[in-house]
Amino acid sequence: MICPFCKQDFSRELIHEGDYWRVTLHENQYYLGRCMIILKRHLEDPIQLSRVEVEELINLTIKYVKVLREMFNPNLFNYAMLGNIVRHVHLHIIPRYSSERTYNGLKFIDENWGKHYYPYPEFKIPEESFRKLRDEIKIYWNRVE
Ligand SMILES: [Zn+2]
Repeated sequence: MICPFCKQDFSRELIHEGDYWRVTLHENQYYLGRCMIILKRHLEDPIQLSRVEVEELINLTIKYVKVLREMFNPNLFNYAMLGNIVRHVHLHIIPRYSSERTYNGLKFIDENWGKHYYPYPEFKIPEESFRKLRDEIKIYWNRVE
């Protein structure tokens, strides 16, 4: 079985590389700033994570939430660890917005506000905006405590 996360090169999406996890910008930016924190080793069941892996995941999550609060001030965060499609431990951080946000001239409207984040439309922002967003998140990442 070929695991898509084990073979993927995340250099385009990468925000931060920790000891055990990578923080990556999600391809679909319907929820502005959505990211995935992906375990660097292949593991299918999160209850088998080691204590140090769990500790780093929590620290990275706290830091990412701080970054997005400063950048876009989301009204809520959803955290999802599902494993339905890719059986490689990863956490989705899905910022939720009660009102419209704009970034780089693009409008972001959370039509699902108050409801489950799924289903949501395909929402691929232009490559230039994607890279700009990634780079700005990195700048904030290096700034927050
Ligand atoms: Zn894997």
